Order: sequence, then C-alpha cells, then structure tokens
Amino acid sequence: MSYEVRGLNEECGIFGIWGHQDAAKVTYFGLHALQHRGQEGAGIVANDQGELKGYRDLGLLAEVFDSPEHLEALTGDAAIGHVRYGTSGSGGINNIQPFLFKFYDGNFALAHNGNLVNAKSLRREVEKTGGIFHSNSDTEILMHLIRKSEALSFKERLKEALNQIKGGFAYLLLTEDAMYATLDPNAFRPLAIGQMKSGAYVVASETCALDTVGATFVRDVEPGELITITDSGMEIDIYTDETQYSICAMEYIYFARPDSNIKGINVHSARKNMGKNLAKECRVEADMVIGVPNSSLSAASGYAEMSGIPYEMGLIKNQYVGRTFIQPTQELREEGVRMKLSAVRGVVEGQRIILVDDSIVRGTTIRRIVKLLKDAGAKEVHVRISAPPLKYPCFYGIDIENKKELIAANLSVSEIRDEINADSLEFLSEEGLIEAVGLNLDAPYTGLCMAYFNGDYPTKLYDYESNLLVEQGV
Ligand code: AMP
Repeated sequence: MSYEVRGLNEECGIFGIWGHQDAAKVTYFGLHALQHRGQEGAGIVANDQGELKGYRDLGLLAEVFDSPEHLEALTGDAAIGHVRYGTSGSGGINNIQPFLFKFYDGNFALAHNGNLVNAKSLRREVEKTGGIFHSNSDTEILMHLIRKSEALSFKERLKEALNQIKGGFAYLLLTEDAMYATLDPNAFRPLAIGQMKSGAYVVASETCALDTVGATFVRDVEPGELITITDSGMEIDIYTDETQYSICAMEYIYFARPDSNIKGINVHSARKNMGKNLAKECRVEADMVIGVPNSSLSAASGYAEMSGIPYEMGLIKNQYVGRTFIQPTQELREEGVRMKLSAVRGVVEGQRIILVDDSIVRGTTIRRIVKLLKDAGAKEVHVRISAPPLKYPCFYGIDIENKKELIAANLSVSEIRDEINADSLEFLSEEGLIEAVGLNLDAPYTGLCMAYFNGDYPTKLYDYESNLLVEQGV
C-alpha cells in the first residue's frame, strides 16, 4: 500500500521570560524542555533595554546554540524563544522563529505555535495592498495585521489583529517595553504562566518548561486572553469573549511531555487512564503488556494495572535517534524505525503480547513493531491503541490536511489489523478518551477537540473548507 508521504508540522514550542538578567539563558533551558515539540529549528530573541537581537538556525536547540557566544550575544532581561517542527516542504531558515521585525517606529519579535485556517486569504489581501512576506509560514500575518491597524496603542492594534485571525494559535510577542502572551478562542494549544523566585514572569507551551527553569506555576493562559507582562507586573485582557475550550486531544494522547499539566490535568495520569479504559473496553488473554517507548509507556502501565497482566519491557528505544517523523521519505522513515527500536528477545520469545501504542497515523510504525516482535519470537501480538482511530485531517496545528495520509480513514479496523499483521487490533472509544482526560467542563462540551476522530471541527474552516468538501467528495 502506498500513502502520500508528508511530514506533520507546526507542533512547535514557545518560551518567554520578562525581568531576568539571564533572560536568554533561561529561555535556552526552557526551550530544551520543549524540544519534543519541534526539532527542525530553534531561535531566541532578547531585549536589551529596548534593542531586540536574535539568533536562529536549523537543527536541534543544542546544534543551533552550539557555541556559548551565540547565547552570550543575546544580552538583556527579557527574551522569547521557539522550537519548530516543520514539514519538508516548508523548511529553511526563513521559517525559523522567532521572527524579528524592525520598523521606523519600533521593533517586535513574534513566536507562534499552531496553524491559522484563514491565513491564505488574509495573506492574499495583505499582498494586494503591497505587503511583503519573507517566509511561507502563516506567522507573519499577525505582524501585517498589527501594522495595518489604526488603533492608538500597540495593545489595541494587537487585539484588533487577533480578532481577524482564525484557527489555532498560541503567540508570544516581545516589544521594546512588554512581552505579550495570547491564546486562540478555543485554546487548541497549551500555554502556561509561571514565576521565578526573583519575581520574573515566564510563559511556556508546557508546564514542564516552568519546572525546568525553577518557576512556580501561576495559571494557564485562558482562551481569548491577552496577557501583558511589563516591569510593572502582569495584566490580563480579553480580546474576545466568544470562547470555547477545545484543547487538542492529541496533546494529551501524544504531543505533550508526561510531566506537564494541561488545564490542571497531568498528562501522564491522563494517558494512564486511557490505558485503563482501554483495558476495560478491550480485554484479551495474554502473558504481558508492552508499551511502545516512550510516548505509550504511561498508557501501557494503565492497561497492565487495570487488566492485572504484568507489564514488561519488551522494546528498547535508542535515545540517540531523532523522531522518525522528521525523515522525509517512506523508505527513510522505515529505516528510521528499525534504527530506533529493538525487541528484547529474552522477554518476548514464545509470549502472547498486548502491545499498547498511543496512535496510528499512517500505520508504518506499528507494522514495523509488530514485525520486530514476531521476528524476536513473540507468539501473538495484540495491538491496543490508547486513542480512537485518526480519520480526519487537522487544520489547527498538525499539518495532516489530507485524508489519504490516515490509514484509518481508508481502511476498516480489521483491514488495518491485517495490514499490520497483528493477531488482534482495538482502539479506545471516544467516550473512553474523554473520560480518561476528565476535563469535566459543562456538558455537552468535553473541553477537547476531537475533530481528528469524528470530523467535528470546533471552528469554521475558512481556507480549508474546500479541502474538506473535496475530501468528502462533495
Ligand atoms: P505512523 O507510523 O504514521 O502510524 O505513526 C504513528 C506514531 O507516530 C505513533 O506511534 C505516535 O507515537 C506518533 N505520532 C502520532 N501523531 C504524530 C504527529 N502528529 N507527529 C509525530 N508523530 C506522531
């Protein structure tokens, strides 16, 4: 079977700090804790008494800042940074953030996590009136909209701009006299505020970055909020009150680090509950439960605990190989999976195994792992996925805009089982997932974006509306 091969993108990480003498260094450590959210490129912009200076490049954070001079040059007591997860098509230094814009009347820097659904039409309008873009990412749009606004203060211009963009966004902006943090009206992406012992405020995509830099959690940024941090402290504004929590379910399932909390829910605990619910929903006789390292270990431990079947270490991950998803072609990706994971023959040989994984996207990884286990002598491999089947594209931050890429959009569960050579295959139900996360918002709202699983998009899709109609054959 051949699937169109494209990367998944835009699942980036952002970090910012205001009021600390080592702002760029703290940002570096904060971004390091967010490296799992993006490995294509990284950058930091610092504010030294109103002068903004930045450094960015392609690669992992430690590769970008590979000599102390890069970081030492970024003096100042405020900084924002970004780690980027990009597609092969839109790579290149021009798309590495933060973007730094210099104007006759002031400078500002911008870092974005998410994907806008009306970026193409807004860009067309801006270009018609003479606007010029340096990147093909949708992040520059916000800068143009801010510049076009005629409101008097920067904050009011920003609020106007935020009301024009649609989709998924968590932004950090650094100006000469303030740092702004803001979240889309659905809170698709996480964004948390913390404070260091010195009093400096930090803002990060995930709370794990707050812990890393020794900051105490203050609060999550709420949907529709604009947070302003200056030398006088933190101010909270609302740019829209038309909000509805729809946190991307994949943050809990796969993206976020297990030690992060999103809206007060610990990611490891949510995953463990997913595993428990999976065990309740899909029982099978077996000798051991094995999780796919690393993202499925929490769910596998929950499955083992609930089923009473022992948890075992049947797979080992080589920590020194990057995520297989970064590799651009199917052949390379398959090679990557082989490089990355090994089966523990002494554990799995002759055994009936329940293999827990967090999701199946194209089916490549799980097919390889089932083969690995069987090659190592496993008698039976029963695959259990701690998420419902991914059937619909995402337009809010993960660039699977095409159903062709999703195996579950094209094949039934039993066809996928045959395709991956598993002895059985079952997925967690939508209800089981919602219950496991347990956001408990007012019914009928679950607080989660479940569009991936049921096509129920929480916003209008604007530029992508036609994509979806084509996909649905309308
Ligand atoms: P695939 O081989 O395409 O089926 O990929 C599935 C694996 O990729 C799962 O085991 C997940 O851990 C991981 N995964 C799921 N969603 C994403 C994503 N958006 N980006 C990168 N990896 C992902």
